Amino acid sequence: MTTTVTVLNGVDTIGGNVVAFETQTARVIMDFGINFAPAESQPDDLLSNGVLPALPDLFTDIAGDKQTAIFISHLHLDHMGALKYLTKLTPVYMTMASATLYAELIRQGLELAPNAQVQVIAPNKDVQIGDLTVRAFATDHDIMGAVMFEVTDGQHRFVHSGDVRYDGWHPERVTAWTQYLHEHRPDLFFVEGTEFSFDDDTSRQRRTEATVLTDFTNAMASDDLVVINPYERNVERLMNLSAAARQANRELVWDERFAGILRAMGVSNEIMLGQDVTVADIQQQPGRYVLQNHFDNLHLLDAFDTFSYLHMNGEPLGDYDPRYADLTAYLAQRGVALQLAGASGHATPDDLLRIAVEVDAKMTLPWHSFHPEREAEALRQIGIETYLPKKGETFTFE
Ligand SMILES: [Zn+2]
Repeated sequence: MTTTVTVLNGVDTIGGNVVAFETQTARVIMDFGINFAPAESQPDDLLSNGVLPALPDLFTDIAGDKQTAIFISHLHLDHMGALKYLTKLTPVYMTMASATLYAELIRQGLELAPNAQVQVIAPNKDVQIGDLTVRAFATDHDIMGAVMFEVTDGQHRFVHSGDVRYDGWHPERVTAWTQYLHEHRPDLFFVEGTEFSFDDDTSRQRRTEATVLTDFTNAMASDDLVVINPYERNVERLMNLSAAARQANRELVWDERFAGILRAMGVSNEIMLGQDVTVADIQQQPGRYVLQNHFDNLHLLDAFDTFSYLHMNGEPLGDYDPRYADLTAYLAQRGVALQLAGASGHATPDDLLRIAVEVDAKMTLPWHSFHPEREAEALRQIGIETYLPKKGETFTFE
């Protein structure tokens, strides 16, 4: 039996990583993200210029000849943004938390993928796609329901790390899957390398979910209104922020989008602006509240004389986004400091090396990085068998 592994996209970018595992009759694809596509893009254009992975039968009316399924490690755009371009009904596996969040994002009009047939994959339970077996393992990333995937053909074992960090709230999950893999020695281990992308800035202290909460609690010690800008898909952080606010005798007030997501994810008793609390209520007692603010509603903040502003990985995420300049200009004009109070979902370079050592694959392939060659070099220096994959490259296993 022959199994091929083809690297379709995302070898030197953060996200958009797509790899296909194929036998004579079955095909498993993971993940299914996209880096950047202008609005109104047509699938065939994106296919011909290589923005979409080279899987013509999924994006045109060309017929496919294999049983195919897509697996999504987590619900960040760079891992699932290509789903909306599917032109025919295709099974798409994700965890229950991802599926619930996805359904809510679709309900709110924030996502749309009419041809994605969502199926739930539970961690540690095998899913059979023809003669390929896929197993998901719970991991730690800055989104709920994140997993990594193992694919086996009965003889060979391949692993896609997904996005991972070792200093979030669930390091034991990472330890569990690295130990499992250590016992099974994968043939190929595709490992993310996001944090190898950036030039070393030793003055920049590593921030974690714990520092996010500490900064938040410190900000709430004043009598001012605290405004936060988190990312709506990091639901676990939203829940923790809510609990921390309650501890500080404040009420965290969410906009409709965030309140809807929290409700869908099973969190009750969250407070929604306009429904449970009004702007006037907050104006009267600013020290009793925390206000979540999305960039789209930035000018809602005109209603408040003063406030502190904690940017917690919401939009706009960084200065590569033109809206970031608008945000900084607005805050400067209001005399409010922009406090960067987020945390990364990605492991430090040291932790990535540690993960690779613990997994001890026969071959480790760094990707999901602007500088995968740096990760490759660091891995080789510690004696890890490493290969830098190229876009379109196929590995064959007999
Ligand atoms: Zn990613």
